[in-house]
Order: sequence, then structure tokens, then C-alpha cells
Amino acid sequence: MPELPEVETTVRGLARVLEGERIARVAANRPDLRRPFPPDLVQVLTGARVTGLGRRAKYGLIHLDRGSTLVFHLGMSGRWRIDPGAADRHDHLVIETETGVRLALNDARRFGSVDLVMTEAIDSFGPFAAMGPEPLGDLLTPATLRAALAGRIAPIKPMLLNQRIVAGLGNIYVCEALHRAGIRPDKEAGCVSKSALERLVPAIRQVLGESIAAGGSTIRDYAQPSGELGYFAASWAVYGREDEACTCGGKVERFVQGGRSTFWCRKCQK
Ligand SMILES: [Zn+2]
Repeated sequence: MPELPEVETTVRGLARVLEGERIARVAANRPDLRRPFPPDLVQVLTGARVTGLGRRAKYGLIHLDRGSTLVFHLGMSGRWRIDPGAADRHDHLVIETETGVRLALNDARRFGSVDLVMTEAIDSFGPFAAMGPEPLGDLLTPATLRAALAGRIAPIKPMLLNQRIVAGLGNIYVCEALHRAGIRPDKEAGCVSKSALERLVPAIRQVLGESIAAGGSTIRDYAQPSGELGYFAASWAVYGREDEACTCGGKVERFVQGGRSTFWCRKCQK
């Protein structure tokens, strides 16, 4: 499913064609994705100018000059197609700018969502209200993470997947960041040392940053807005590499934590 780097890549791709543009035509080809489209979606978008784009966790944000923001989630299989040649039956929302650029929100499995939120109240939008800091933002520091984890007896790995601790981190990135920082995934969260957290925060940013730079993708049916497929899976150090050699000479192991596969190396993660 699209992870934070794919959403960031998508937002950057959309910004190139949408920023400052006026939306001329809108077609909602069905009434819903995971939940109904806002009833005034077509009316609010038509004629609006896009003032900027952004991202919160795995949600993309399209800010409009009418005081509202379109918030989209790509669910399991969502992607935006830019200037698709032919229409596809999974193009559920189609937007055309005044300059003639067509954008289609395509989502075969329809686990995605589209909402309209008042821009000034966006922090209180349901999914954002209790969210922790952005992993790439200034509010996540070794000190704030240490405070958030203080006294927590749960293992560090599921705690990093908890959106209230850090927003938008997925399983792959947590496995890779813990490996890079040399922290064992089953270590009690409140007992991870200050120096380990000082390695972990930059490791999280590096893993996400490298994935974004690579055009970020983790699944086969994900495509960038331009329509190109992105692949980054080949460069994981531990994820998906059970029984393979770690770069330290150890062996990558897998176990299940909170229903998710954890990949790690007991030789270099302490
Ligand atoms: Zn190792």
C-alpha cells in the first residue's frame, strides 16, 4: 500500500501541475470510495484555485482559495494519474485545470478517501486530531521522542508504528530505521537510551528521505503521478530478507510483533 514516501512523491508530482492553477472541470464518477464523497465536492472544487499542496502522515492535502482543503488518502491501491491517455474504469474523481491538465484519482480497491476540511481547522480533522509529530518535521527530535516513550513498557517497534507517537511511519521504514540505528525491535520503548534515540531520529529521516528520493514505492501496482512505476524494495537492508546475510556478517531474522512481520539482525541491533 502507498506509504509516506509514495504520498510525498504524489504530492510533489501534483504540485508541479496544480499549484496556482484554477480547476475548470470536475467529474465524480461514483458517489464514494471507502466512504461517500462530500456532497458538495464538485461544487467546491469547480472554479477554485489551488493555493498549495501538502501532506500530513499518509494524507495528501490540496489547499483551495475558498478556505477549504481537499484531503485525500490513497488507501491500498490509490494513485493520481496525470494526463491519462484513456479513461480507466477506476478513475473515480477526475479534475481538469484551466490550462487543460487532467488528473484522475484512480483506486481499484476503493479503500482510499476524499474529504473537504476547513483549512483553518485542519488540525482538528478526525484522523489528525491525536496524531503525533511528522517524522520529517521539526517537532520530532530525540528529546520529544524520549518524552513520548518515557515509562512505556511496550516494545519500541510497535510504539513507532503508533500514529500518536510518530505520524505516518509504516512497517518497512520502522524495521529499516531500527536496523540502521542498531536498536533491537523488542526492546522496551521506555528503556531505549538517549544515545540510541539520537541515532534513531536521523535514521528515520534518512530511510524516508532515501525512499522519497528514489521515487518511493513499496508495491507493484503503485505508480507515480507521471505514470511511471517506482521501485525501491531492492535496497532494503533487512525488510523482506529473512535468512539472508546482514552487512555486519550476521543473519536477518523475522518474527511477528503485533500481527506485523519484524525483520532484524541480533548481531548489530542491541
Ligand atoms: Zn547486522
